[in-house]
Amino acid sequence: MISSNEHLPLGILVPMHEEVEQLLKEIENARITSYAARTFYSGTLSGKEVILAQSGIGKVAASFTAALLIHHFNVKALVVSGVAGGISDSAEVGDLAIAQEAVQHDMDCRPLFPQFLIPHSGISHYQTDPALTKKIEEAAFNFIQEDFQHQIPSLVQLELGISTPSIHKGLLVSGDQFIGTSGQLSKIQKELPETLFVEMEGAAVAQICHDSDIPFCSVRTISDKANDVAHLDFNKFLNEAAKIYTAGIIKKFAAFL
Ligand code: SAH
Repeated sequence: MISSNEHLPLGILVPMHEEVEQLLKEIENARITSYAARTFYSGTLSGKEVILAQSGIGKVAASFTAALLIHHFNVKALVVSGVAGGISDSAEVGDLAIAQEAVQHDMDCRPLFPQFLIPHSGISHYQTDPALTKKIEEAAFNFIQEDFQHQIPSLVQLELGISTPSIHKGLLVSGDQFIGTSGQLSKIQKELPETLFVEMEGAAVAQICHDSDIPFCSVRTISDKANDVAHLDFNKFLNEAAKIYTAGIIKKFAAFL
């Protein structure tokens, strides 16, 4: 599917402006186009055509951006990156999480439909594209091997309590809530026990990609453990580590396409 569309651009969505700015440092000949309240940057990354946009935070903002991106730019595939909360015990701050499937954890039309099912679609678990997911895993692995130690100074690693990241693959859940209390965390762990990580955009974009027949994948850096201290870690981690991981991994991913 990807090879027949090789000349088409890759779509890249990240929720926050810090992540956009970090990626823009790597994108050559960036040109700006705006649709509605969204800005799209077209250019080349690792020699490949890409379209980058800030998705915004939450399912509605990200869905709108994804729909504009897909329908104005004819992208061959879409990757969503950024930071996320680790739900599984194994997903530590500083690790990388790659989605194999994605659920909207706040979709609940019971008793009319089963919990998590998107009404009239018959789907609760949206699958990520296996070939893209394999490539993003290779990109994450390469970033850790080749770039992590010199891009994240050892003092920053010490301050943030991170070391060489592990890569995890599994279930992503998304909803319109920052999961930052033990009550919210245990609700997700109880209702969707196989969950690896939580954020606020990916599963909604997965639905848009499914309905538009666009291959989708997602990689996130674990910024917090989605518990009572989640908010304390957030901004420092984003600026000193996570946005650097995101740009580094997406740059390698583009090279592989
Ligand atoms: N401080 C930010 C707001 C971040 S909202 C600002 O002022 O702009 C949280 C963002 O990080 C969302 O994009 C979400 O996808 C992701 N995220 C990280 N940890 C999360 C968690 N524990 N629960 C939900 N989303 C999380």
